[in-house]
Amino acid sequence: MKRLAVIDNTKLKDMSKKVYIQGLCPVNRAGKECMYFEGSKLLIAEPLCIGCGICSNVAPEAIKIINLPDTLAQDPIHRYGKNGFALYNLPTPLFGKVVGILGVNGIGKSTAIQIIAGILKPSFGKEKEASMHDLIQHFKGTETQAYFEKMKSGSIKVAYKPQHVDLIPKQFSGKVIELLKKVDEVGTMEAVAAQFELTHLLERELGQISGGELQRVAIAATFLKKANVYIFDEITSYLDISQRLKVAKAIRGLATPDVAVVVIEHDLIALDYMADLIHLMYGTQKAFGVVSQVKPAKYGINVFLEGYLKEENVRFRDSHIKFSVRAPIKSIGIHTLTEWHSFEKVQGDFTLHAEGGKIRPNERIGVLGENGIGKTTFVKILAGVEKATSGELGVKLKVSYKPQYLEADSDELVMSALHEAVKKYDAELIRPLGLKDLLLKKLNELSGGELQRVAIAQCLSQPADLFLLDEPSAYLDVEQRLAVSKIISNLAELRHIAVLVVDHDLLFLDYLADRLMVFTGKSGREGKAQGPFDLETGMNTLLSSLGITMRRDESSKRPRINKLGSVKDREQKEKNKYYYG
Ligand code: ADP
Ligand code: SF4
Repeated sequence: MKRLAVIDNTKLKDMSKKVYIQGLCPVNRAGKECMYFEGSKLLIAEPLCIGCGICSNVAPEAIKIINLPDTLAQDPIHRYGKNGFALYNLPTPLFGKVVGILGVNGIGKSTAIQIIAGILKPSFGKEKEASMHDLIQHFKGTETQAYFEKMKSGSIKVAYKPQHVDLIPKQFSGKVIELLKKVDEVGTMEAVAAQFELTHLLERELGQISGGELQRVAIAATFLKKANVYIFDEITSYLDISQRLKVAKAIRGLATPDVAVVVIEHDLIALDYMADLIHLMYGTQKAFGVVSQVKPAKYGINVFLEGYLKEENVRFRDSHIKFSVRAPIKSIGIHTLTEWHSFEKVQGDFTLHAEGGKIRPNERIGVLGENGIGKTTFVKILAGVEKATSGELGVKLKVSYKPQYLEADSDELVMSALHEAVKKYDAELIRPLGLKDLLLKKLNELSGGELQRVAIAQCLSQPADLFLLDEPSAYLDVEQRLAVSKIISNLAELRHIAVLVVDHDLLFLDYLADRLMVFTGKSGREGKAQGPFDLETGMNTLLSSLGITMRRDESSKRPRINKLGSVKDREQKEKNKYYYG
């Protein structure tokens, strides 16, 4: 059996600990150099390792010993040095198609697309970089071979949108218009700016626009490059539903017989809408990742939810993620937490009208609606932080709030930011959110996804009557989103507290929410708050305001968007059933 030993030496700072671990290895004790040093780096000679697991039990955060399945007998496509992360196989860009990549964080998606983009030269697990000739030989007889031949002849030009749009203002200072003009190779700056609702922002400084606006700037900048391979690393973070669909539609339209598009995406509804084909990626996070064969998008997403790849005979998750046709009836308290009659709030140019409603303890309410339409104002009024201009309100609630944009400037330790959670909710928050390994890190050292998980734990551990989580799905991979919805539900149940979750990932909300509130209106001008409704009425209200219909997939029961003007779309609109059908 082939064995992989992956060591992250940055997690083993103490030399004496490394020497101690080396001393425990039974192969070393028998006189062979299985664990050895290169300078101060501890390494493992994989052919000598017997897989006893002693070292990885002592330092699980730094060492992973993995017995690879027999199907992975071949060398990896790439390895980040000795005992580094290993990537097996590559996704294939296909001209005329949108190819999606779906997998958890740390499974090698970025590594794979960097190789496709020609940025990273793969090593095949050897000491030196492989040549283009080696790559072409390796993939002989496949579409990937044809792709690398094109790259070798210089006829591939890649445009790439990175995941972390928040970094753009650090790399480029100036106005939106200056950035777009600088990258515009097609000469359609104004039209593309209008397409992504940026015209009114052109004169703004990049450092002063919101995350959702930056996301659209980054997408527009990618569209403005003259390329034949477009790669998008997540398009949905910070975008509301109508913007997500607009961008997804534009990306679909990019793929022509001469243009290939590759997308990494964790919003399964957006991915389903964009992609023709999908590669799943599985393996062990931060140790190795395998790119699956390519599959039709609809089937590929269902395979992902099932957790089992039939063609490859690989089970990559123990549980099957299931959706139900109707929201399951959960144990919702019969009492009322708060009740309000209709009220109005005027704030400068913006007016919010809220219809009456009530929230029961223990229930999970999804909140849908565009950005800038009064969702936060509404909750501040429930909390008594802001006063309504007119109308009657119920009891003042103590609200624990996780904002949409997370500040991470502080060098406070995660452990101290999370002291309540560490003290009281180890089993409910710290462990299931995978925060154990982060406790000794500083807040400003965390990645977007890590910071998000810390912020969720922090919010859910505070004393409160109501939790408000604003876009908890941002930067989380699809597996984490589904896990977070379970964690939120369990904690609401345990603490007998209601939760409002504002999010634009409809699949995440469908999985999480008992009921829905819907905000409609015009961003920055007026908002109308309705509900909470039952799930179907809520979705219907939102989707009819957007003019799109959704049905449930027959086999997985997950929600999917109907093609505009398709038979199903027309039938559902006639019946005024925008959701489910
Ligand atoms: P994903 O995009 O799926 O989140 P990545 O491709 O970014 O995954 O990373 C996969 C693994 O490779 C991670 O464990 C990461 O730490 C490691 N890795 C990424 N870049 C480097 C590098 N330059 N040197 C060493 N390890 C790296
Ligand atoms: Fe040595 Fe066992 Fe660790 Fe392999 S798994 S390096 S044999 S201690």
